[in-house]
Amino acid sequence: MKSDPRVIIVGAGFAGLQAAQSLANSGAEVILIDRHNYHTFIPLLYQVATAQLAPDQIAVPIRTLLRRASNLKFLQAEVQQVDCIAQELTTDQTTFSYDYLVLATGSKSKFFGVSGAAEYAFQLKTLNQAISLRNHLLTCFEEADRESDPVRRSQLLSIVIVGGGATGVELAGSLLELFTGSLKRDFPHLNWSEVNLRLVQSSDRLFTEFPDSLGKYTAKKLRSLGIKVMLGSRVSQVFEHGLDLSDGTYLAAATVIWAVGVQGEVPLGLPFPAVGKQQQISVSPTLQLSDYPQVFAIGDLAHIPSHQESLSGVAPEALQQGVYVAKAIKNLIQGKTNKPFSYFNKGRLAIIGCYSGVGQIAGIKLRGFLPWLFWLVIHVVYVPDWRNRGLIFLTWLHNYLIGDRPVRLIFPSSPAILPRGRSPDQLS
Ligand SMILES: Cc1cc2nc3c(=O)[nH]c(=O)nc-3n(C[C@H](O)[C@H](O)[C@H](O)COP(=O)(O)OP(=O)(O)OC[C@H]3O[C@@H](n4cnc5c(N)ncnc54)[C@H](O)[C@@H]3O)c2cc1C
Repeated sequence: MKSDPRVIIVGAGFAGLQAAQSLANSGAEVILIDRHNYHTFIPLLYQVATAQLAPDQIAVPIRTLLRRASNLKFLQAEVQQVDCIAQELTTDQTTFSYDYLVLATGSKSKFFGVSGAAEYAFQLKTLNQAISLRNHLLTCFEEADRESDPVRRSQLLSIVIVGGGATGVELAGSLLELFTGSLKRDFPHLNWSEVNLRLVQSSDRLFTEFPDSLGKYTAKKLRSLGIKVMLGSRVSQVFEHGLDLSDGTYLAAATVIWAVGVQGEVPLGLPFPAVGKQQQISVSPTLQLSDYPQVFAIGDLAHIPSHQESLSGVAPEALQQGVYVAKAIKNLIQGKTNKPFSYFNKGRLAIIGCYSGVGQIAGIKLRGFLPWLFWLVIHVVYVPDWRNRGLIFLTWLHNYLIGDRPVRLIFPSSPAILPRGRSPDQLS
């Protein structure tokens, strides 16, 4: 008797998890592989880093999400090698043969050759990195509270965020809310004029993915909140306690956060190179590798030349590619052909903080309270698992009514106490 075709999906982020769930009860044996045993809702990572949400509120065990169908299996493993000719995938656990392979390993930070950035700047791509940043920020305030040297104290209370895209802006607004809400009450003896929050952006405006007017609105809003927005400033080197700008200015800061640039997280041992500035895997309009049509690449990892203009590396793109690839594989199993992938853009929103955001939906520009509210509603709806949705909603309600951040916890024994920017998954 012929066995069911085997589909291996590497990466249980937005794209890979969606692909697996869309293959439920498809008649294929589906093995979803990830180095973590949980799915992370990345857009809310910054709220973990800023003590707003607890880590388990934005992460769900992958096995919980696959329970609904017996053909979906999970393996916690690190992918080490892909042999596209033999159709075999090797992990640190075992080697599998596959009929179809879906690569959905996402992206990682890109440092543009800036020396010291990988070593000293904090990143925000994984849950461990978010916890690591939270621990560090809270530790800086504890140290500053007992520090008598004003120079060292001002360094401890200085934060520089590099990157004026969505991540950088969201972080800046959320840090400000943390400082002016909870921490001001926690540390009544600190001199708050010493707290220095700066957002450094190399281009002359924030939010290059939005129309110019929304970028200007965002910069004005952040400045009015007390954040120093430094446009046209390029970082040339990062140190343990600060950074250099390319015009020679030195900014002292105990915390430098790298919120700019991504590149494909290409699995090791692929028999072909990643391409382009973002080091992604180039795929055809049907998201297949041209030399190996049994292999698909989706999400942040994939470079789709036919969609270069319309895709910008956000979760809805990854989700739609996950749905598409599942359907494409079902068609191939049934001997049918596939139409090219097409992306339906529902619009874009970003949160600034302090009850304001920006957005563009159906060509209409939004700013202020409405996009802030839409952003919260949409994000809570998209979080997988009812428990997490409920907890996030209640936590936000508590935060915004009481103005307090409950997760101001420093875990000394946490695996997050690692060299900055590093997480256990990056240490081998
Ligand atoms: C801080 C931040 C904020 C963001 N905010 C938003 C937002 O508000 N809205 C929005 O739409 N988008 C946002 N994005 C972008 C969005 O998160 C990505 O587009 C989306 O996560 C891409 O999904 P993916 O499935 O391709 O990759 P990911 O979600 O990154 O998942 C990749 C998975 O692959 C696993 N993996 C990687 N390599 C291996 C390996 N070798 N072996 C085993 N497993 C592996 C990882 O553990 C991970 O689970 C944000 C991104 C960041 C970093």
